[in-house]
Amino acid sequence: MPGLFERSFDNYVTIGCKATYSEHVINAAGGDLTTEPDRCFACLLLLYRGEVAKRIAEKHPEFADLATKVEENVKTYRNLREAVEEEFNQAAAFYQNPQFQSDPDYLIFMVSAISYLYPQDEDALKARSNMFGLLDQAEDTYGYANFLICAGLWFADYNGYRAAVLDRFPAIKAQFDAERAAKDQPGFIQRNMDTLAKTALAVLDSTGWDLENQPIEYAFLQALWNYRTKLAAEIAGRRPEFAGVLSLMKQNNAAVSAPDAHGERITTSLGDEMTAMTKFYATGDWKSDMDYLALVQAHACFSFCRDADSREKTQNTRMEVFRQLEKAESMSGGGKVLLIIALWFEDYDGFQGKVRALLPAFLQEKRTQTWARERDQQAEQQRQLEERRAQYRARGVCQHCGGAFKGLLTKKCVSCGRTKDY
Ligand SMILES: [Zn+2]
Repeated sequence: MPGLFERSFDNYVTIGCKATYSEHVINAAGGDLTTEPDRCFACLLLLYRGEVAKRIAEKHPEFADLATKVEENVKTYRNLREAVEEEFNQAAAFYQNPQFQSDPDYLIFMVSAISYLYPQDEDALKARSNMFGLLDQAEDTYGYANFLICAGLWFADYNGYRAAVLDRFPAIKAQFDAERAAKDQPGFIQRNMDTLAKTALAVLDSTGWDLENQPIEYAFLQALWNYRTKLAAEIAGRRPEFAGVLSLMKQNNAAVSAPDAHGERITTSLGDEMTAMTKFYATGDWKSDMDYLALVQAHACFSFCRDADSREKTQNTRMEVFRQLEKAESMSGGGKVLLIIALWFEDYDGFQGKVRALLPAFLQEKRTQTWARERDQQAEQQRQLEERRAQYRARGVCQHCGGAFKGLLTKKCVSCGRTKDY
């Protein structure tokens, strides 16, 4: 059985090219692999080591304090070399522990740090080669750990990784540039913006919200709350691994029976559901499941777009999800509803303005329909009344109440006392 690096080396070359050519990394590095190669790979450490540390801590509680510190360092953009050096020295305390030695995430955390910090140092070279050796026994790696391992391979130049990356980069770059150009073509959301805005009002109306007198913002929250479980059930129907998300939603529904009376509880519930859903994002073919994307995006836009700070921090991820959604050819009804909700909270290309602009006409139309319905009802009642009167007259009784008449000259109804009037 070939080791990890023999199996996956080619894959790591591609991942290294792709990861470093993301907008995220290019922005942070101030250039791409052709101009800032070392900085690009350092950025993978800069941006993603916190996620890997977090996953290590999930498996090994004794790593939790360090993971918190790493995340803090990442969040505060602490000087990378200084931060990684300190983190590495602390993480090294776990190195002799067999449980850590067999954890690829931990090994990747270590190997990327040591390769970045000490590319030439004699002792470090020995330690590094031990780590690569242990890692070679590992099962496949995934997620952010893959980004980190690419950084390790780059700084160690293990098996000529640098040359292989630089060799493949032009092709990956061309492919990405072509995809970016294609992105400028109007996608699903752009093409359907007006229809989606119109549908938005029908969706809100269907929740029973009084659009004329109650704030429309809360109507969208109500719609999210009402529709999300239904779509989650559809998704879980075809993807059993989603069942956990569905049961979490059901629990939350049970806990919040009167939505507007429990605003905070709703916010927390939606946040928890989002966390439960995001873990699927990076795996399998979930990124091409438009219902899933719309559902998770509605949660994310609601959770993150209400304050400027978290809005900005999660901006790139939300935009990436919208770009995926733009690739849709069509979308299910439930997917559309959740997409509409996401667009409202995000205000992607002025969606809120479009919806608000359509609101007066929508309300007018609704009033007109209500009047027409009332008029029809009155006409129907009148018709029934006339019919009954005709029946009474035919039977020779009081046409108002059906009572019998009494009296010789003047006939009066025994029941209502009215004089015969036909
Ligand atoms: Zn009568």
